[in-house]
Amino acid sequence: MTSPASADLSDYAPVPPSALGPALNDQGYYVGRVERNLYWVTDGVYNSAFLATRDGVVLFDAPPSIGNNLRRAVDEIAAAEGVSNTVTHLVYSHHHADHGAAASLFTGDVTRIGHEETKRLLLRDDDPARPVPEITFADRYTLEVGGERVELAWHGPNHTPDNIYIHFPDHDTLMFIDVVNAGWVPIYNLNLSEDVIGYMQSPSTAMSYPWTHLISGHLGRLATRDDVTVHQQYIADIEASSREALASVNPVPYYVQGGVNVWAGVKGHLDAVTERAAAPVIAKYTGVLAAADIEVFTYTTTFAIMQSLRLDRGPSGPVHP
Ligand SMILES: [Zn+2]
Repeated sequence: MTSPASADLSDYAPVPPSALGPALNDQGYYVGRVERNLYWVTDGVYNSAFLATRDGVVLFDAPPSIGNNLRRAVDEIAAAEGVSNTVTHLVYSHHHADHGAAASLFTGDVTRIGHEETKRLLLRDDDPARPVPEITFADRYTLEVGGERVELAWHGPNHTPDNIYIHFPDHDTLMFIDVVNAGWVPIYNLNLSEDVIGYMQSPSTAMSYPWTHLISGHLGRLATRDDVTVHQQYIADIEASSREALASVNPVPYYVQGGVNVWAGVKGHLDAVTERAAAPVIAKYTGVLAAADIEVFTYTTTFAIMQSLRLDRGPSGPVHP
């Protein structure tokens, strides 16, 4: 492994204090009450959640970076609340290993639940750390355990084809993973998302649910509705800026310069569009969203949105006369 040059990583703008969450304990985690018997757990980078019901614990995602601290967090709360620490159910938000590969730590009589596409992808990926769900659903599933109700729903592909909305109607909470980062920009390529249009539209679906607390899967704090609004504005600004740049950057000089190497012309043109589109967004959000000045994140997200505007929405270019 190579190590970073420390000067390179300390040159960025300070992280706004509002982007940070509570301090972690000596074992490297924080567990907090969301509402009533719904709890969230974070290691500062990833988060997951659990319901501590009278009939056992329902776990929502099992990020390997939190790993065995999930067990510690459940034990700590179960002891404090005088309820069972037995994990009876585990819900997968989506198939990605970074949110689910501690699932295999919870063995025994555990019922795993996920979208039918999650099952298909987990069968494909064949990872013993992520056992396939026993219960699957296509559009909706109501999970009732120990007098508590959780509504799982699939509203189309976004970050992944299988990423679901997990609504806790009696806890004023939504769990929706890997789309909005509370107080931070998405990392590369819209948070490594597969469906650009689906990703861009999904926050409005999230906002159509009633909730006060959002468990978004990453970083050290819960998200608010205001966090989603800021995220939506960041994405909308990139979309508007990309449209403007596509319309105003003349491709011809790049293709002339590239000559027979048409791919050199493509690179010159699309890099110019991306830089023109991303620069004002980076300037606007530096100091507002943490890591907005790590330019490659906004560049790659801008590139993905700009390409989706061409390829999904069209037009991809002028029609030859
Ligand atoms: Zn993911």
